[in-house]
Amino acid sequence: MNELAGAEFDAVDPSTRQPFASVRETSADEVDAAVDAARSAQRSAAWRVPANRAGALHLLARAIEARADELATLECRDTGKPISQARADVTVTVRYFDFYAGLADKLLGTSIPLGPGFVDFTTREPWGVCAQIIPWNYPMQVLARCAAPALAAGNAVVLKPSELGSVTPVLIDQLAHAARLPEGIFKVVTGHGPVGERLVANEHVDFVTFVGSAAVGRKVATAAAGRLAPVQLELGGKSPNVVFADADLERAVPAIVKSLIQNAGQSCSAGSRLLVESSVHDELVQRVADVMRGLSIGPGSNDPDLGPLISEHQIERAEGMLRRAVSAGVHVELGGVRPEGLEDGWYMEPTILTDVVAGLEIFDEEVFGPVLSVSTFATEEQAVELANATPYGLVAAVWSRDISRAHRVAAEVQAGQVYINGYGVAGGIELPFGGMKRSGFGRGKGVEAMYSYTQIKNVCVVL
Ligand code: NAD
Repeated sequence: MNELAGAEFDAVDPSTRQPFASVRETSADEVDAAVDAARSAQRSAAWRVPANRAGALHLLARAIEARADELATLECRDTGKPISQARADVTVTVRYFDFYAGLADKLLGTSIPLGPGFVDFTTREPWGVCAQIIPWNYPMQVLARCAAPALAAGNAVVLKPSELGSVTPVLIDQLAHAARLPEGIFKVVTGHGPVGERLVANEHVDFVTFVGSAAVGRKVATAAAGRLAPVQLELGGKSPNVVFADADLERAVPAIVKSLIQNAGQSCSAGSRLLVESSVHDELVQRVADVMRGLSIGPGSNDPDLGPLISEHQIERAEGMLRRAVSAGVHVELGGVRPEGLEDGWYMEPTILTDVVAGLEIFDEEVFGPVLSVSTFATEEQAVELANATPYGLVAAVWSRDISRAHRVAAEVQAGQVYINGYGVAGGIELPFGGMKRSGFGRGKGVEAMYSYTQIKNVCVVL
């Protein structure tokens, strides 16, 4: 039972710890009503026409574009991220809706030759009503990443943002309404965990997407399994940059720093482990530390390199992990503290930890803060072993001028996305994204997301 139902809760600016908006806790009845409305809308004749869906999603993209400044400002305020990152998030959000609008009428089936006497073909059918539960670190982007392909493929969506990142999802819900998406086809329900629980438990939800932590993902998957609803899980990561001695360090250093500090380290795909060949360890750590020392920290509205963490809980959790790492023998090369003069928000200095060995909590688990764990290897075999030695498998990068070695390592690394001599690409909308091992299953982004949001039907005509 959700005891908060109907009440309002604060959206808090992590730069100041001050509330700036209030959000409503959706009641159980309202969640059920949203699912019922989604069910009727999804079955309408109009939503079954791909061109109609494409048109609606392009209109929503234009509506978001028209409010870009307001959305970026709100996202910056609600999550603390630097305003330029929030602006980039709006651009990516718009692009998701346009990209999947363009795929709505390209969901092709296949024809299967059975010989004379048969005509056999497949179609891709939507699941029906998709429940989507998302985290707070990229509220707009992850909303679009989940909702756009599901809608383009002919589903209806009821989406629950995080209680720590609801402001822009609520505005996008309003924009969808104004852009005249069919009534009920896309609905945002706000609130804490129990709202998500209620949504997953609704028997008319046909498919569940969960983006968030492994701990909650396990609960959501268990609840969905109870009524045999299919689930896609997009969970955390502890992704490595694997740097060999022959790597171009000039290129690697800024990419390593960026992969960590994006969103103050609060990214599922953060490059939070640095695995480096022993002979270049000291040089690389010094170069990374030099760049990190020069990073600006402050409120997102000042557009620093690094904004605050999302909450007191998040920073205390990160500090607890640091304390345990130090008592296990890890060396703090840089940072590890709250910066002076910024006591108004939940800020943490960019941090480098060296002497990190496999098996430690800090090696295995997400900090979700600007904390880089550095470990060394001596051989290619050890590099692969270390890269794979965490429970997660989301992203990995290999840095080497030896292209054969880079390919060998990429082939052995257990991660859903592997980069060679780079880490991520802007937006990355076109590239299938998702985890191996505890990072989840199923794929978002790219054409693959359209497949995730459909099921195959085979039709066999016996002539
Ligand atoms: P979280 O797991 O605490 O919460 C995620 C969502 O689940 C929130 O909306 C929350 O209200 C909801 N929830 C909580 N309890 C629930 C329950 N019992 N039933 C249904 N819903 C419930 O995660 P978070 O702290 O918001 O986000 C951080 C995590 O998200 C990190 O682990 C990060 O790596 C992960 N993440 C993954 C991806 C990806 O694509 N793989 C992207 C972004 C974030």
